[in-house]
Amino acid sequence: QVTDTLAKEGPISPSYDWFQTASLVTIVIYTKQKDLKLDSVIVDHQYDSFRAETIIKDYSYLIHIELSHEIQEDFSVRVIQNVGKIEIALKKKENTSWECLGRPLENHNSFVPKKDAGLYYRKCQLISKEDVTHDTKLFCLMLPPGTHLQVPTGQHVYLKLTITGTEIVKPYTPVSDSLLPEFKEPGFPDNRYIYFLIKIYPAGLFTPELDQLQIGDLVSVSSPEGSFKIPQELEDLFLLAAGTGFTPMVKILNYALINMSSLRKVKLMFFNKTEDDIIWRSQLEKLAFNDKRFDVEFVLSAPTSEWKGKKEHISPGLLSEFLKRSSDKSRVLICICGPTPFTEQGIRILHDLNFSKDEIHSFTA
Ligand code: FAD
Ligand code: NAD
Repeated sequence: QVTDTLAKEGPISPSYDWFQTASLVTIVIYTKQKDLKLDSVIVDHQYDSFRAETIIKDYSYLIHIELSHEIQEDFSVRVIQNVGKIEIALKKKENTSWECLGRPLENHNSFVPKKDAGLYYRKCQLISKEDVTHDTKLFCLMLPPGTHLQVPTGQHVYLKLTITGTEIVKPYTPVSDSLLPEFKEPGFPDNRYIYFLIKIYPAGLFTPELDQLQIGDLVSVSSPEGSFKIPQELEDLFLLAAGTGFTPMVKILNYALINMSSLRKVKLMFFNKTEDDIIWRSQLEKLAFNDKRFDVEFVLSAPTSEWKGKKEHISPGLLSEFLKRSSDKSRVLICICGPTPFTEQGIRILHDLNFSKDEIHSFTA
């Protein structure tokens, strides 16, 4: 009944089935969607609970079961795109025949709007912490072995810590470990590790506690959230970032330069207070040198007297000069992220410069 009602309003509910061989149990989810990606499926196997959440448009389909038999730690997740099928292959601990998959747990086989599904957290281990600027660090967290999770480009997660007996939750945007392909950690399968660039505010509630964690300590990480979808066939991509508002731009930049054949130009305008605050400055300069499609401009609000570059806040003059389309009708996307007053001011200026709503994506809370 519930599923029927939803089906009229949103996408059609997926269904699932399972089959087994002597050594494997395969759960198959039939999503009835063709453009499904591997990052639409999040799988967590912890203690007695097996969870597989599939995100379809703005809906969440959940499989939640106490498996009838034990399985090995590692499993594989495969998406067969042209038929919208997901296969999760579990390895049996013992080669016996299963009579049933298991016992349904809370909300098993439900299909609800994602906003009603609630966020699920798993505990991740702090693997490394590295200084990037005087106050910003690159944190690397490792997902538990029973988790399959990839954060889509432009989305964020919530980190949760218990601070003096109270659970505190703050959003953070995962980045890649570097902007340059040659710096990527060799032999590290990308999808086990999640990287964050996080500014530590000495008077802040959450970040000083995060900074206190020792290597090996645990942090809870939520499933991803966010509305960003990268349009296809873009020609001009403009990124306006202030301070740690740079974080969503990292994966967008990597994605665009690697995957978008239509792309002519990517320009980043990066606003900071001082030169010392610029995150990954030398990587950005190197990337601009190596890839002619990419340009970066640094704008400082409180530089020292030696600074030769632009010294200002976001303004109409600055943006009208920077946001030049490569041709009159070129397909453009402008992404903006930073402190709320910066983002709000930026959006007003972009509207005044006649960029349409579809051409602007702002990252906000
Ligand atoms: P807070 O306690 O929030 O304080 C921050 C600063 O404000 C401190 O200097 C504090 O002294 C000051 N302050 C607090 N309250 C007041 C007040 N009432 N009046 C005046 N000053 C005050 N940050 C990152 O570093 N990296 C990211 O990737 C990232 N991604 C984000 C993604 C999203 C979607 C959003 C919304 C935010 C993101 N942030 C990111 C910001 C992050 O969520 C936190 O807001 C930030 O880390 C500060 O948290 P905190 O608890 O340490 O500081
Ligand atoms: P910051 O204080 O170092 O400021 C960086 C630059 O932002 C300044 O140099 C200035 O050019 C501009 N700026 C700051 N305040 C401004 C104002 N009132 N009006 C106009 N411009 C202003 O920045 P920070 O401490 O790195 O903070 C970054 C912000 O970005 C945080 O508020 C964080 O929550 C936000 N953020 C949001 C997301 C998201 O997805 N929504 C992601 C990452 C960061």
